[in-house]
Amino acid sequence: RVAVVGAGVSGLTATKCCLDEGLEPTCFEQSQDIGGLWRYTEDIEAGRPSLYASVISNSSKEMSAFSDFPYPEDFPVFLPNARLLDYLRRYAERFGLREHIKVGTTVVSIRKNPDFATTGQWNVVTEAKGKQTSHVFDAVMVCSGNFSEPSLPLHCFPGIERFRGQYFHSRQYKHPDVFQGKRVLVVGMGNSGVDIAVEASHVAAKVTISTTRGAWLLGRVFEHGYPWDMVYNTRLMSLIRNSLPGPLSRAWINYIVNQRLNLENYGLQPERSCLVREPVLSDDLPSYILTGRITIRPGVKEFKDNSVVFHNCPEEEPIDIVVFCTGYKVSFPFLEESVVKVENKHASLYKYVFPTHLQKPTLTVLGLIRPFGGIMPVIEMQARWVTRVFKGLCQLPSQSVMEKEVNEKKKKQVQWFGLTFDEVLKTEWLVYMDTLASFIGAKPSMLGLLCRDPWLALTVFFGPCSPYQYRLEGPGRWEGARQAILTQWDRVLKPTRTRVPAASSSFFPSFLIVLGFLLVLAAVIFGF
Ligand code: FAD
Ligand code: NAP
Repeated sequence: RVAVVGAGVSGLTATKCCLDEGLEPTCFEQSQDIGGLWRYTEDIEAGRPSLYASVISNSSKEMSAFSDFPYPEDFPVFLPNARLLDYLRRYAERFGLREHIKVGTTVVSIRKNPDFATTGQWNVVTEAKGKQTSHVFDAVMVCSGNFSEPSLPLHCFPGIERFRGQYFHSRQYKHPDVFQGKRVLVVGMGNSGVDIAVEASHVAAKVTISTTRGAWLLGRVFEHGYPWDMVYNTRLMSLIRNSLPGPLSRAWINYIVNQRLNLENYGLQPERSCLVREPVLSDDLPSYILTGRITIRPGVKEFKDNSVVFHNCPEEEPIDIVVFCTGYKVSFPFLEESVVKVENKHASLYKYVFPTHLQKPTLTVLGLIRPFGGIMPVIEMQARWVTRVFKGLCQLPSQSVMEKEVNEKKKKQVQWFGLTFDEVLKTEWLVYMDTLASFIGAKPSMLGLLCRDPWLALTVFFGPCSPYQYRLEGPGRWEGARQAILTQWDRVLKPTRTRVPAASSSFFPSFLIVLGFLLVLAAVIFGF
């Protein structure tokens, strides 16, 4: 019996993976419905993320799908929040998840059972309609999300107490009408900051973004108009990135990011370009800077009564509203610190999932990771691995090995080969997916595929590493995976090529097909 805490993306796929492995999940959701952050509401609910009305996914539908459940072909390539919620509802229907979910039920505490050392069981206390109930579970999957507790570090902004204008955190933001005719300052250049600044600039008198560290700015619309993540996250690209010596790999990614626009000219260049940060996705920002609708400034030095002063800028800038887009804190109020300790937004978890020091590996945290790509398939892969560990079909390494790896990751040393990620981004999407997939035997074997199905092998190697690749073989193999891979571009073109019917499912230019076999062979020889 497995307790799943939360029914967002993580909780839904955790419940489904439990069912796939013959486990008995009970998913507790404190709010009245499923969907987690993707269920937009006008009201802000405690403990659940709050979206602004216009949020559109920044990962494409093919790269954000669960691996055995592609998005409908007529859905847009990047998904407005309501369409993503629609997809999650369909997923819950398709796999019969609803009957395992108890909505309106909050998990208030999770404690080790007295006989934990031998059974690995947990005592889970839930509260519904003011009544508490205690349950015993063999395992727990924590899927409670990490974007509901705002980080508002006002102490970092001298003078904020005397500022006479209005200020609020991005979690409070819903619609742009609050900015009508105002001079707006957006603090922080994550995806919230850029989205809100772009939206404000339609109605505000003036919009300024203050960023201390700059941004890895990409567009959803990437090379030749294809979705960025379908071009960036391919096996070929990943192989090259990770095989090159560190400086070359970093130079290459800097080249890719600066191809569309020279970040320096736009005041956006990342502070430490040797550390790859979570990309900020905006197609509008560059043109809004060019047209003077948005101005980029450095970090805030201090606030005055009606204005702000930036570092290295002598003049003060008059401001009416400040939006602090300063991110979120991570916490698990229902867990003891001795089980999962969060320090500076990080928890010491093996592969970002398992606490390293428990006598039994029966508690996990899902989704506490920001990979360079869509998180849905990543969380699903975590859940597939976790449920096999729960069943005893996969083993974890010894505590010392896990601790050593976790501590190494904390050191943030620049890598000799491949890219180095900052402490928030943490890891490369494809490498992480392949690592977990190899634990459960679901990593596609390129050599085997090349012998059995060369066309599919080429598509898998050169094409986007769409999540269906992890259903081609091993436990959880899905009959539809091959077809889903071969038709992935059809589903991308269907909602865009609306004037002339889409012709072929192939994306590769023909010269790539010719070179394909040679490169795959070379890759095999070099032992990828
Ligand atoms: P959540 O969606 O936060 O769900 C957690 C659920 O747990 C909630 O329903 C909550 O009510 C419930 N819960 C919490 N505590 C308890 C408790 N004690 N008891 C019972 N229930 C509880 N990722 C992408 O890959 N692509 C994107 O385009 C993308 N866009 C994003 C946009 C925004 C604005 C934000 C904030 C994040 C975005 N992300 C994106 C990342 C996002 O975290 C994931 O897409 C995903 O929704 C996370 O799902 P989750 O289930 O882990 O968390
Ligand atoms: P975030 O990515 O954590 O960014 C917060 C930003 O706040 C930092 O990048 C930093 O910006 C600034 N900051 C933090 N502490 C600060 C301090 N003490 N002083 C000054 N500045 C500080 O938060 P977010 O933008 O809210 O995004 C949260 C998650 O939601 C991310 O994973 C993001 O991708 C996702 N998201 C997605 C979408 C979408 O899909 N459309 C939209 C919104 C959010 P500087 O370094 O620039 O100063």
